[in-house]
Amino acid sequence: MKKRIGLLYGGKSAEHEVSLSTAFAVLKAIDFEKYDVQPIYITLDGEWCKGPQLSAPVSSIDELEFKNTSETQPNNILRFILDENNTQMEYDVIFPLLHGTNGEDGTVQGLLEVLNLPYVGNGVLASAAGMDKVVMKQLFEIAGLNQVSYVHFLRKEWEQNQSAIVNKCENELPWPMFVKPANLGSSVGINKANNKEELINAINVALKYDRKIIVEQGIVAREIEMGVLGNDDPKVSVPGEIKPNTEFYDYESKYKDNSTSLIIPAKITSEVHSTMKDMAIRAFKILDCAGLVRSDFFVTENNEVFINEVNTMPGFTPVSMYPLLWQNSGVSYSELIDQLIDLAVERYEEKQ
Ligand code: ADP
Ligand code: MG
Ligand code: MG
Repeated sequence: MKKRIGLLYGGKSAEHEVSLSTAFAVLKAIDFEKYDVQPIYITLDGEWCKGPQLSAPVSSIDELEFKNTSETQPNNILRFILDENNTQMEYDVIFPLLHGTNGEDGTVQGLLEVLNLPYVGNGVLASAAGMDKVVMKQLFEIAGLNQVSYVHFLRKEWEQNQSAIVNKCENELPWPMFVKPANLGSSVGINKANNKEELINAINVALKYDRKIIVEQGIVAREIEMGVLGNDDPKVSVPGEIKPNTEFYDYESKYKDNSTSLIIPAKITSEVHSTMKDMAIRAFKILDCAGLVRSDFFVTENNEVFINEVNTMPGFTPVSMYPLLWQNSGVSYSELIDQLIDLAVERYEEKQ
């Protein structure tokens, strides 16, 4: 029997747009011989809208017509899993293709847990810990993973004593620094600061996105990433290097301009490669990840490896790094979708 997949995308997130292109790519590549797919679109305002039941690929995401369930039913989020008569579960597996807040951060995963639905990818803990760059780094520290130095603080603390925080950054971190909202992705709200004035400006920008800020020592390094796939016995992909044409890998270079090159497999020494493999698995385990993670590293000129972050729902279009890494490791895009769905079922069954 065909599995019924609910494809969740959009979302109340700064990365809404990115999710739309991912969903479209998955709708084109998913094997309709094996799955019936229903898109579930979450608007920027957080409304959940059910799309049509699909049994063949769509040619454009704009083609889909959505019923806003809140018009007909009072509690639209809880109703989305039931059929029209509210009697039967509509899905075997939910595929949350959501990036950033309210999707990649454990909130939607928590909802799906409560609804007792199997879903693709990371659970509540890994999603939440992976979304918060401060918590993630604290866990990496416990796992003994090499990473750049950082300082973190809350908006309240900044408002109370700006100069103490600036001094702390200056005392603990060399220039330049990278200022980031703790809970985002896609480089949104991230800025490089070369001096005190830029630092203050960058902090004020980051505070627009989050109440928690992380300031890191900026390093000059290559950016090399690795895919991890699996549940309790995860596998790693070949490494891939990102070469942005901009000063750093910002939002524009990630999604807008085509000048960023991806080099797969990345040219690294076998020593760096085995360090990265080991670190990628340790990062996956300390966060208790499931399904998929992309682990991102900095590799310096003298081959020192730092972990930068993990992404619990990495970019997932066929031209994104994560699927390309697997393609180069012998797993095609549609096989990857199959494996992720199988892993979701496996994890669900193991929890029962
Ligand atoms: P996101 O989760 O938004 O991708 P990252 O922490 O990966 O956030 O930062 C985005 C980009 O900014 C990185 O890919 C890299 O180009 C640059 N960057 C981030 N932190 C540093 C750092 N400490 N030193 C040098 N470059 C950095
Ligand atoms: Mg990220
Ligand atoms: Mg990143």
